Amino acid sequence: MAASLVFRLHDRGPEVVREVLLERGWEEYDRRHRQDEDWNLYWRASLFHKSDYYKLMPWQRLNHHPKTVGITRKDFLTRNLRRMRTTFGAGVYDFSPIAFILPNDYTRFLAEYNRQRMIPGPPIYWICKPVDLSRGRGIFIFEDIKDLVYDSSVIVQRYISNPILISGYKFDLRIYVCVKSFNPLTVYIHQEGLVRFATEKYQLSHLGNLYSHLTNTSINKFSPFYKTEKGKVGQGCKWTMSKFRHFLHCQEVSELLLWQRINNIVTLTLLAIAPSVPHFPNCVELLGFDILIDVKLKPWLLEVNFSPALTLDCQADITVKKHVCLACLRLHSTTTMKLKLRSHRPQRQTNVCLVYSVGQRSVNTASSQTRERGAAVPPPRVGDFIRTFPFNSATLKASQEILDVRTVIQELLKLTAKLSHSDHSKQQYKI
Ligand code: ADP
Repeated sequence: MAASLVFRLHDRGPEVVREVLLERGWEEYDRRHRQDEDWNLYWRASLFHKSDYYKLMPWQRLNHHPKTVGITRKDFLTRNLRRMRTTFGAGVYDFSPIAFILPNDYTRFLAEYNRQRMIPGPPIYWICKPVDLSRGRGIFIFEDIKDLVYDSSVIVQRYISNPILISGYKFDLRIYVCVKSFNPLTVYIHQEGLVRFATEKYQLSHLGNLYSHLTNTSINKFSPFYKTEKGKVGQGCKWTMSKFRHFLHCQEVSELLLWQRINNIVTLTLLAIAPSVPHFPNCVELLGFDILIDVKLKPWLLEVNFSPALTLDCQADITVKKHVCLACLRLHSTTTMKLKLRSHRPQRQTNVCLVYSVGQRSVNTASSQTRERGAAVPPPRVGDFIRTFPFNSATLKASQEILDVRTVIQELLKLTAKLSHSDHSKQQYKI
């Protein structure tokens, strides 16, 4: 009988990854019976140490690329998107609400706050979030600067106060993105995903009610209305993306442009760090992009989650997260060197530029400029992960050697312009 592939889970989780791997015949690593290097996949929710990448053997995979913290920490994301906006234009990088990192940017925030207050029209709101916390912890919304109180590093971001609502409830989208490689940039988006609802009706007159303004499940599952029927939302606080697509379809909202804009957000955000991520071909990373849609059907990026939660709280989680994990594992197996059991001891990966050509053939440790590329176009679909980058021959070419960010952006704009011309859903969202 063929030997099984072996996985390691840091801190014994996430359980759904274990379940999927065991179902597929993998074995869990047990250090009492195996040597240190006898594993094929190491999955952890936290960062790997830099040295873990350099110690990687050809049969081993990690579930994170190095340096993705550049987009997964709120302050780093703010800084990187600001830099991209300066370089490539506010017209292109217009998908993240203006944000300030406090205390450093306090004076700039104050100037913007005062400027906004001078503009006639509805009031402007702000949301304050600790830079290194998740799950809605420490977040509050304010209108008046006198209510801004913080004792750690935070970002203050313009609050998107006109989100589309379903039966009066706010929601955001959790989009699952798998980055198979940063170099050449190869990105997949899962067709499924989650829609996460607030559990009390949206009211700008009650900024302190987190059940009305935040869509984190970790908060809303403790709401007194979690189990209540909430109009079209139903019980609980989650839908699958299929249900949401069906819902949009019934409302006669043309979704094509909306999804293209979401794809653009994912690509443009990854472009902010892609040139600086060291190349390790044995890594595939799952990221969670949180997207809020406003009444004009404009999607906004709220944040990018490192190790998006894989806990199974409800039926929607079970339907979506298991498929996401499965497809993510399939992407690990389709990395340029096939995943297989250790059979011999080739040399350790000594250099960040080490690249394996397609199949299991040769290794080239030359410099990044001259490295051999597996010339094959990455598969358009792996499980329910659909390749969104590269998306045509121009972007394939632009990502092969040194990433040509400008050309990629031009191609994105061309594609989006084409879709906007054919899109007739200019109406506002009315539900
Ligand atoms: P966390 O990492 O703590 O989940 P997020 O940035 O995802 O932090 O914010 C938590 C929730 O707050 C989001 O899911 C969303 O519902 C709401 N939110 C965050 N930023 C904004 C914003 N700029 N405008 C409107 N709602 C926001």
